[in-house]
Amino acid sequence: MIGAGDGGEVGRSRAGGLVQRCEGCPYGQGIAVGAGGDPQSPTVLVGEAPGRREVEVGRPFVGPAGQLLDEIANQAGLRLDDVFIVNAVACLPVPTTPRKSAILACRPRLLAELSRTPRLVIVTLGATATRSVLNDFGYRVVAGRGRPRTSPWGDVMPTVHPAFVRRRPSTRALLHRDLEWAVRRGRESQGLGFGN
Ligand code: URA
Repeated sequence: MIGAGDGGEVGRSRAGGLVQRCEGCPYGQGIAVGAGGDPQSPTVLVGEAPGRREVEVGRPFVGPAGQLLDEIANQAGLRLDDVFIVNAVACLPVPTTPRKSAILACRPRLLAELSRTPRLVIVTLGATATRSVLNDFGYRVVAGRGRPRTSPWGDVMPTVHPAFVRRRPSTRALLHRDLEWAVRRGRESQGLGFGN
C-alpha cells in the first residue's frame, strides 16, 4: 500500500509521478498511485481508485473524470492544486469497481493519509470513497449524498463521483453544490466569510 510504509518497491511512472508495487490487497501486484495536490490542505477530496491514465501518469484524477472534476471544482471555487486528493483504493482495480476486501485492505493507508495533518472538510466522491471513510458499507449514494456527516478526521460531504456525472450530465449540479458546501465550510472553519 503506497504511503503505508510497507516497503513496497517505489518508482516513477512514465510521466514522473510516484507509483509503488503493492501486494497488500486481493488484486495483488497492483501498481499503486500516490496522492495528489497539497498534502497539508485542510480540504481533502477522496476518489475511488485510479484509472489507466492515472497509473500511466502516477497521479490521481488526471484522466477524463479528473478533467471534469477540475472544471466543476473551479466553478465551485476550489482549485484542485490547493486541496489534497487521495483514492480509497490506491491500485487500478480489475474489474473496475473495487471489492469490499480491497477497500478494507487499503483503508489503513487512506486513514493514515487523512490523519497526517488536521483536516476540516473531506469530500467523498462516490460510494466507495464514502463507505471507506465512514466505515459504512451500507451507504447508498441516493440516500446519503449531500448530507454532511462527521468523522474523526473532519466533516464529510458525500457526493457523486465525476465519472458518474460524465455518464449522467444531469447530476453535474449535485457535485457542484456539494463542492460549494465544502468551500463554504472550509471558510467558516477558518473564520473567513465569502469574499475574504
Ligand atoms: N477516479 C478516481 O476515483 N480516482 C482517480 O484517481 C481517477 C479516477
